[in-house]
Amino acid sequence: MRPFIYSIAIAASALPDRAASDAFLTNVTLVDIETGALSEGQSVLIEDNRIADIGRDLSAPIGFSRYEGGGAYLIPGLWDSHVHIFSSATEPDTALPLYLINGVTGIRDMGALWPIDAQQELQARIEAGEVLGPRLILSGAWVDATPGSWPGMFLADTPEDARAVVDRIAAEGWAAVKSYSMLDEPTYLALAEAAHEYDLPLVGHIPERVALGTAIDAGQDGMEHFGRVAMACATGEERMLEDVRRVMANGADQAAIFEVMAGQNRVILETWDQALCDEMLARLAASGMHVSPTLVVADFYTGNWPAPDAPRMRMIPAEVREAWGRPDFRLEAMTDEVRDLAAESIALDRRTFLMTHRAGVPILASTDASFANPYLFHGFSLLDELDLYVEIGLTPREALYTATVAPPRFFGLSDQDGTIAPGRQADLVLLDANPLESLATLRRPRAVIVGGVVLDRAALDALEATLLSEGE
Ligand SMILES: [Zn+2]
Repeated sequence: MRPFIYSIAIAASALPDRAASDAFLTNVTLVDIETGALSEGQSVLIEDNRIADIGRDLSAPIGFSRYEGGGAYLIPGLWDSHVHIFSSATEPDTALPLYLINGVTGIRDMGALWPIDAQQELQARIEAGEVLGPRLILSGAWVDATPGSWPGMFLADTPEDARAVVDRIAAEGWAAVKSYSMLDEPTYLALAEAAHEYDLPLVGHIPERVALGTAIDAGQDGMEHFGRVAMACATGEERMLEDVRRVMANGADQAAIFEVMAGQNRVILETWDQALCDEMLARLAASGMHVSPTLVVADFYTGNWPAPDAPRMRMIPAEVREAWGRPDFRLEAMTDEVRDLAAESIALDRRTFLMTHRAGVPILASTDASFANPYLFHGFSLLDELDLYVEIGLTPREALYTATVAPPRFFGLSDQDGTIAPGRQADLVLLDANPLESLATLRRPRAVIVGGVVLDRAALDALEATLLSEGE
């Protein structure tokens, strides 16, 4: 699929372009997400796409657009560390503005149907300011066993395959190697070793036949989704892995494999063990492995869906809404018993998540938002995920840390680290209220600054109006 990028035709009509974007924000309150400190009455000078200067007594140079902050709160732009924006030819056209109106100025794509060169072209156009959108990290080089869980994956069935695949991934310029569920253990271990020889992080799923402890020992850098943490807190982990290994070794079909995996929730609930969990989480924390929980995915199974006329529903294309509304085999198959079990599993995941955070395991806020994943929304779902973290027991500051400070540091960006300081890329969100007291203020930013371009409330409203009219 060679996509046609008309991405953000919107930009030309409704929005300021970067050439005219040198900006001077006055009277803002800087929020330090790491320490919780507030600095009132600051001015911020933005030149091109960088923060050029910060201080109390700055004066605006000639030619800079001046924005009166009125004491509003300035935080670093948000990151969603697990999304898929390339699951259809035109998905970025909707996804990018949805991120911006929600204050998300950075995303990590974790698996795509577009060819890498087309992804890189969009990434370069965003970096150059030709397309208005969040900063893009391309980590979707997913590697699975034949035949592959999704179309277009890299395939590896032996350690030799794994090494050859990593050679290609490195040559193509991906930011990471992503392991996927069906890899066998020897192939997975070779994948980890080859990735690290290229200095590429290994991120992704812990394969269904691999223990979390094995992945820690292999130096896996990032883990996608949360279920495997709760599973590793269960004394039944090894037994469950053995069951999967056995059916897969017998060449069972996918349905049989999924049936075995579906039985795992009950075993986890029955054998989850506090002492084992403490020990496992201490190991996980010491390893430095980052976890992208995507807890908001559970909303799909619990039927926590927005009303059909909710603005977020009306902002996505009609054909996507239609596809989401079609009967889903995963939901059709749910009996009351399965539903109760799912609810218990979700509650256990959330308890385990709080323990994981308190054990010092670094968390990257993430959602799995994609047109391919029903009722997960670009932008909106990241705010839902952060609300969930607070509901579970993190402070608003701790939740914000997972979306502002942790991601750019994990990605190794040289010009972004979740602080607001000279030299950093000007990706910022200006808020009416103090977000350390409540995250509710994130839902309607006063301004979003992306790559140095200031989108004030009027520009954000114009983006929303365009999304609503395109969704009709
Ligand atoms: Zn995903």
